[in-house]
Amino acid sequence: MENQFPIDHLGIAVSSLEGALHFYRDQLGLTVTQRETVAGERVNVAMLATGESRIELLEPTETDSVIGKFLEKHGPGLHHVSLRVPNLEATVERLRAAGSRILNEPRLGAGGHRYVFVHPASTGGVLLELVEAHS
Ligand code: ZN
Repeated sequence: MENQFPIDHLGIAVSSLEGALHFYRDQLGLTVTQRETVAGERVNVAMLATGESRIELLEPTETDSVIGKFLEKHGPGLHHVSLRVPNLEATVERLRAAGSRILNEPRLGAGGHRYVFVHPASTGGVLLELVEAHS
């Protein structure tokens, strides 16, 4: 398998999905490919196609959720960068062995993708999501 790590999506925290869609969908003209509520993350998600990758809009369902707290602290904005990796388990193992801070065990997120987050302390200050590529 090729060892490529394309950008899967950019995660943007917003206070209102409809407000953000008014720009990204209605004004910019991107297509919404997926909408769902991820109960475990307490977030409403809208995915927009941007060619090779996607934009993920994240609206908290509760103020004390991860995205709710992010909004309170930073306001709306870029929340994370997501890279697609060929083998999530192997990548996580390699990073752990090298001392990187993995924030969760691989789990299912929006669209049924398995993912982990890597702490910004390990990545140059950006919350990094690693998503397993569909085989
Ligand atoms: Zn994401």
